[in-house]
Amino acid sequence: METKTRKLHVFFFPFMAQGHTIPTLDMAKLFASRGLKATILTTSYFAHVFSQTIEKSRALSTQIEVLTIDIPCAEVGLPEGIESVHMVSSPENQLKFFEACGKLRPQLDHLLKRHRPDCLVADTFFPWATNLASESGIPTLIFHSTGYFSLCASLCVFLYGPQKKVSSDSEPFIIPNLPDQIELTREKLPVDFLREDMETEFARLYKATRRMEMGGSYGVLVNSFYELESAYVDHYRKVLGVKSWQIGPLCLYSKRARDAETSLDKHECLKWLDSKKPNSVIYVSFGSVASFDDEQLMEIATGLEASGKQFIWVVKKEKKEGIKEEWFPEGYEERIEGKGVILRGWAPQVSILEHEAVGGFVTHCGWNSTLEGVSAGVPMVTWPVAAEQFYNEKLVTQVLRIGVEVGAKKFVRLVGDNVKREAIEKAVRRVMDGEEAEEMRDRVKGLAEMARRAVEEGGSSCLDLNALIEELRLHRSNSS
Ligand code: UDP
Repeated sequence: METKTRKLHVFFFPFMAQGHTIPTLDMAKLFASRGLKATILTTSYFAHVFSQTIEKSRALSTQIEVLTIDIPCAEVGLPEGIESVHMVSSPENQLKFFEACGKLRPQLDHLLKRHRPDCLVADTFFPWATNLASESGIPTLIFHSTGYFSLCASLCVFLYGPQKKVSSDSEPFIIPNLPDQIELTREKLPVDFLREDMETEFARLYKATRRMEMGGSYGVLVNSFYELESAYVDHYRKVLGVKSWQIGPLCLYSKRARDAETSLDKHECLKWLDSKKPNSVIYVSFGSVASFDDEQLMEIATGLEASGKQFIWVVKKEKKEGIKEEWFPEGYEERIEGKGVILRGWAPQVSILEHEAVGGFVTHCGWNSTLEGVSAGVPMVTWPVAAEQFYNEKLVTQVLRIGVEVGAKKFVRLVGDNVKREAIEKAVRRVMDGEEAEEMRDRVKGLAEMARRAVEEGGSSCLDLNALIEELRLHRSNSS
């Protein structure tokens, strides 16, 4: 009797990185707004970041909770207190962080047994969680925090191994069995995920995830919308045979609230934008993890200035009181006064992108940023750094034709590839001025409109979400 009236309870278990926790929080809010109970498992750092949102949603009588877990840092030789991947700055420690996350099994097991949710939404980086949940009879949905294009591309690279058939890292190959001719090089791929001779934590994870995606789990949840990449949605489902639901763009469900909760600079930089003409400012940001060395920062600074465009540039490097920053060109701050804003720390990205003064976005092509750019109708300069970002670049520049490449050539994981000032200047101009820019702007504005409709009542993402919830209800009643 209780199962008929009890709210459907979904556990969300995101990887501890902003690019994963932000859409997860949006997803939890979305599910809770549909009358489900949502519980997020995360570290106390993110529990604190989420606290205001959770309070607000409780005030709306939605049921959303956080349960905290502890990263076993000491077990892998990481300093205590690392609770998010953005807190590690070296590739070695990043690897250790992944290893530590792999040791969360007993904590998840305990929470699953204690709370007995109806479904687990597990991050792509926790493929082991699927097996664990199924031992307790709980279905798992995998959340990749990326779109269909890159899901298809990475699955085809995994299945057919085109990167093994070229003789050098820079020799191009075509990814087999995709709806478009997509050319890549080995140096743009996450090679340590793919190399079969290396049994690294990444390689193990990558293989396990692909196996879960192709049949080990209940299905895949995707933060995207059908109209954006319909050929790839169909391909993923019908040709590659993966069961999936698309429920995005998640950023559209709670965008302004999110920025208001996370940003201190909001007031200042948005006010500054208010004084600018439409499409006159370019926004430059590389997400929450990527960083650049001083030499590259200097190239960006110079390239932006040479483009003659006004800009907001988010720089992750902390400014130390009284210490001169070597990467600033001489007299730079004085020269850009009124024309450019350098924002330290956390930017209210969604609100910035949505501002009518913003006419372009230099992005590292993290999936959330890409989708936020699309949803705001802003053409992009693509500058991928790591993860699946080189795939996302191809979607933006070649398939959707809403952006231009800056020319980054190498997957570097943490510190961006070296791109020269002239390339930056040229790409910024291309995306801001002239006929090509106008065409890209028109196309991306059309997609933004489709994104808005997708999440409305009766829209494609809304219908997919309804179908998923219905299926989960059915699954529960069949298994009770
Ligand atoms: N973000 C933000 N302000 C910042 C940096 C990032 O709001 O200063 C948000 C951004 O809007 C996006 C997420 O953090 O939602 C970054 O995710 P993405 O997938 O783009 O990149 P990642 O950080 O995972 O590389």
